[in-house]
Amino acid sequence: METFQLNNLTITINKEGGDRYSKVSYPARYGRYAEIRHPDYLCHFNLLGEIRHLQGLGQDWPHPAEWLKRTIGNDWIYYASGGYGDVFDLIGEYYIPCFSYAGNSIFTGKPFQNPEVQQALQFRLKLSHLLKSSLKGQQLPDSINTFLQSIIRNSEKALARKGHTLHSVIQGRIPVLPPDSRHVDYEVIPVIIADGCRHNCGFCEIKTGSDFTIRSKQNILRQLTELQHFFGEDITNYNAVFLGQHDALAAGADLVRYAALKAYDIFRFSNSTIKGPSLFLFGSVDSFIETDEETFDCFNRLPYTTYINIGLESADQDTLNLLRKPISAEDVRKAFCRMLEINRKYEYIEITANFILMDDAPPGHHQAFIDMMQHGLKRRYSKGALYLSPLKGFHDRKNILKQFHAIRKGSMMPVYFYLIQRL
Ligand code: SF4
Repeated sequence: METFQLNNLTITINKEGGDRYSKVSYPARYGRYAEIRHPDYLCHFNLLGEIRHLQGLGQDWPHPAEWLKRTIGNDWIYYASGGYGDVFDLIGEYYIPCFSYAGNSIFTGKPFQNPEVQQALQFRLKLSHLLKSSLKGQQLPDSINTFLQSIIRNSEKALARKGHTLHSVIQGRIPVLPPDSRHVDYEVIPVIIADGCRHNCGFCEIKTGSDFTIRSKQNILRQLTELQHFFGEDITNYNAVFLGQHDALAAGADLVRYAALKAYDIFRFSNSTIKGPSLFLFGSVDSFIETDEETFDCFNRLPYTTYINIGLESADQDTLNLLRKPISAEDVRKAFCRMLEINRKYEYIEITANFILMDDAPPGHHQAFIDMMQHGLKRRYSKGALYLSPLKGFHDRKNILKQFHAIRKGSMMPVYFYLIQRL
């Protein structure tokens, strides 16, 4: 660690954060990073000099343990404490990620409209200029000077371009990350191995509508090598991959294994500053039922903990029909039982499932869900969370919360809200 005082800025490089993601109620930082402390703001940068976190230090900042984070897709997210109370019970984390774009959140706070938050984002825009003028006539150690020059180069425009570069490397945007990626604070490297979706459900707003297509190994290898270049030295701060998009499981065991192992080598996860590599992917009811034992044996041997999230949505046929999801309630129940089996059998695989919450759910929706759970489980089970996802555009927040609590009460497994986060 090296610290330098430049006028009213305290600059520290090579700071060491935590080496394992943990669920804590304070602003934890992970991996290696650099910091600039201004009397009013605290800024954290990755090893490329790109801003990642920004926090106000003044009295008017909404809460001393709240902060802004910039994603690699160049979105800002505000981390609200929500008073800590029941936030953990609702989302399994001690903070509420608030997005600057429309989503399905049940949280009503609008931090991006807060003048202090807006001023912090303005400060970030002025930082390059402030550094340039502070540097005039100063003699700095080479390491500090190199770091500050990289921040100056990473202007707002340059960071926006970088976000576009990410999407052009993977040839697509990630409209939604798996809910399980909350375990690594959504810090995943995205690699698309299959586009489109096999179901193309009527209610779904995140689907592309295109046919399901599998990417070639060549395409995946190109993404991995270009991503290695994209993350540069900062790749050491990553230990998780998301294999996109909506049904990577349907791409088959061979391709999932290929992408996971190549990513592990190319991104050098064995040398990551953060321990415990994770692999995230989505599966559909059909692809999950079709996946055989041999494939799960193979996934369990990967050098990751593998999280597979399945969109079940409802165990009630009327609700599935209403959602225009082309699967049967019987297959949903079959997939749910399989989820329980896999979670019991494999140490390094966790299957989780999503269910829908909506304003006017058919009467059978909740009961079918509870019946299915009580039929499959005789006692409480902590592995394999169930995520309840309010349909975008819901009107009655109170009713959605009431449904959530009713289901949670009858559930034998952890139940959380699913907040749709893009990359
Ligand atoms: S399977 Fe999932 S991603 Fe695909 S259309 Fe249905 S809800 Fe959307």
